[in-house]
Amino acid sequence: MAPEERAVRQSERLRALVGRLARSEREFWRERLAGVDPDAIRGLDDLAELPFTTKADLRETYPYGMLAVPFAETVRVHASSGTHGKPTIVAYTAHDVEVFAEVNARSIACAGGTSEDVLHVAYGYGLFTGGLGLHYGGERLGATVVPASGGNVGFQVELLADLGANGLACTPSFALLLAERAATEGALERIPLRYGIFGAEPWSEGLREKLEAAWGGIDACDIYGLSEVIGPGVAMECREGKGALHVFDDHFLPEIVAPGTGEPVGEGELGELVLTTLTKEALPLVRYRTGDVTRLVPGPCRCGRSHVRVARFSGRVDDMLVIRGVNVFPSAIETALLDDRGLGGQYAIVVDRRTELAELEVHCELAAAEPAARREEIEGRLQARLEQQLRLRARVVLCEPGSLPRQEIGKAKRVFERTDEADELLELERRSR
Ligand SMILES: [Zn+2]
Repeated sequence: MAPEERAVRQSERLRALVGRLARSEREFWRERLAGVDPDAIRGLDDLAELPFTTKADLRETYPYGMLAVPFAETVRVHASSGTHGKPTIVAYTAHDVEVFAEVNARSIACAGGTSEDVLHVAYGYGLFTGGLGLHYGGERLGATVVPASGGNVGFQVELLADLGANGLACTPSFALLLAERAATEGALERIPLRYGIFGAEPWSEGLREKLEAAWGGIDACDIYGLSEVIGPGVAMECREGKGALHVFDDHFLPEIVAPGTGEPVGEGELGELVLTTLTKEALPLVRYRTGDVTRLVPGPCRCGRSHVRVARFSGRVDDMLVIRGVNVFPSAIETALLDDRGLGGQYAIVVDRRTELAELEVHCELAAAEPAARREEIEGRLQARLEQQLRLRARVVLCEPGSLPRQEIGKAKRVFERTDEADELLELERRSR
């Protein structure tokens, strides 16, 4: 569908959604939309007039307070694991389940899936949306779905080989585990795998290379979703245009906003992904703050799909730093570092707050000891790269291999504060000496 044609449909759907919610019996929606005149919402240009919804809204109305249909019309619930105690409950009507299947069928096709395939689904089945989402999607596409669910690596490798899996849907870390086991058991040659649909945890370009090679040259594609919005199948990478994901924007309308202000960011700038569900019946969301960081990728995709694209995700809003008014995501710095072969991959980010306007300092280890001229070259290269990607000048400090403090317990701390009173990185270096 041409983007202009879709914009007309999106506007119609948005108008219908707001009208439906404004007339809803549900206290939550009546209150949230109290200041909105549904007749004034004519289309996409009026989106910014609408209030946001958040995860906290879902928690506070647990379990069914945000339902927009009579309970009798729901046919299924799922839940997302809550980091704050109670899970978030999401409900579906029969039509919602249809849409869920449709967007997952599209996702599988994006990775290269067809109706001829055997699709092995090793996402967890149950309250988590991953298993059933890809399962119904595979059936909708006409593939033969193997509902393997998680666990039991040895048995799964046998199934992959005996049943002849062409597609594999699971987390990237589990896919790597399966590939390693298949290799040790000599089963790789018997598995005709062509593509993987990997998601539910962040993964890097480095891991993609590893997965594609480990499975003998498959297409490893990233799937994105969140149970609050529907589950997997909100957006999907196609095999022709890896690096960006098509958002199925006839159902899920994306915006990118500045996390602090909620205002739209400049074209192509990083910000928080906000989604409006245009077609969901049971649990629609208006301008839902996902907390996930990405940017819009302009231009057409080689695959021919016209769905708008977003870059692979750069982490969570909670990790964001604000330096001199510019939003900086540590993961964007990490990406710039990991792509440089002159660097070893160990790094530390120092936010220097000793002056009124904070400065950003990036310490990184060289991959090997280098002569001064070569160091200068690497330093200049990284400086330019960071400036281009962050739109902010950062001081680069190169250090010898093995010289940054190693942290062995839990997730490594990468961001350190420096004030007149304390220097966190220096203190850690002292302690680890
Ligand atoms: Zn594409």
